[in-house]
Amino acid sequence: MGTDKDHPFQDGAIVSGDGRIMLFQCERFIRDICEGNCCFVCGARPDEKVFNDEHIVPNWILRRYRLHDKLITLPTGERRRYSGYKVPCCEPCNRHLGATIETPVSKLLAGDFATVAGRLDEQGREMLFTWLCLLFLKVHLKDAHVPVYQDQRKGGARIGHDYDWADLHHVHAVARTPYTGATLEPEVIGSLQIFEIAKQTMEGDYDYLDFTDAQTMLVRLGRIGIVATLNDSTAAESVWSERFDLIEGPISDLQLREVAAMFAHANRGLIERPVFQTFVFYKKWATIVARRPPLRIREFDPAEFGPALLFAVRNHVEAGAIQVDGTRDPVTVAGKISTGYVRFLTTEGVFNPPTGKDVG
Ligand SMILES: [Zn+2]
Repeated sequence: MGTDKDHPFQDGAIVSGDGRIMLFQCERFIRDICEGNCCFVCGARPDEKVFNDEHIVPNWILRRYRLHDKLITLPTGERRRYSGYKVPCCEPCNRHLGATIETPVSKLLAGDFATVAGRLDEQGREMLFTWLCLLFLKVHLKDAHVPVYQDQRKGGARIGHDYDWADLHHVHAVARTPYTGATLEPEVIGSLQIFEIAKQTMEGDYDYLDFTDAQTMLVRLGRIGIVATLNDSTAAESVWSERFDLIEGPISDLQLREVAAMFAHANRGLIERPVFQTFVFYKKWATIVARRPPLRIREFDPAEFGPALLFAVRNHVEAGAIQVDGTRDPVTVAGKISTGYVRFLTTEGVFNPPTGKDVG
């Protein structure tokens, strides 16, 4: 591996002249950040810098929606205060992320839907995408430290124990571009759609859901709903573009969840995946590129889509909030949704405007 050659090179930790790691090798990313307790941005050990740790759900969201004292439910069912839900981060990186990404995104996502949508030009979308990568990364880095069992007598297994951390390596590279200054080629941006959420279906002001393996996430902030797939080079939104064209107005929270399931299903069905690489030039500049293959996807299979949709709407089903074929019985409704033939967004090619009653 060269060092000062004037051609770009990949992998191998590359450190800039001012000491920043421009590119983590995958092995070091896993060892120091996923499984270790180093700063997730710069890689510093806790004995090298002052750490003050970074909120996973950023402070501006906690403030805007008064969530500091509210409880977040972890994937294991354990509940913790939002304000204590943090990942290891050194003080300078925390401050830098605040100034370069959190504050700008808090402004980007302020106001009503039309205002926010109007700000999402190419630069706005890139910033939002980077922020989503950052949020997804933090949620899953945390899983490395969240015990599967609250009762320690059952063992010390962690949620992240089964993760293939290498999948997160690319998301990490994008999430830390505010630190490295790396540019993103347009193909690196994945599927990213925002929707206005109809008022009558709101359940709290902040909502988060992800399909971890499909790197697909849903974030709802008040009446702004965001769905993104991080590693598909826009394949999912291309696959479903005709369906999205049918949407004529605000959608319900349930329909937003259906969109997330549609994205995840499309991403899982890609026959050939995009390949991402980071190139570093002269140890100073970095750029992340994507090689996007021709879009080829497995034929839509309701038996695969149904369980994805059920995963996304399971809380609604369990609460008896969804009516299908005249029943709200959770077991019956779950069974019908898992067939893949229940849809909320459209019926036979026509958009279903939210009515306040969630009927599939
Ligand atoms: Zn740091």
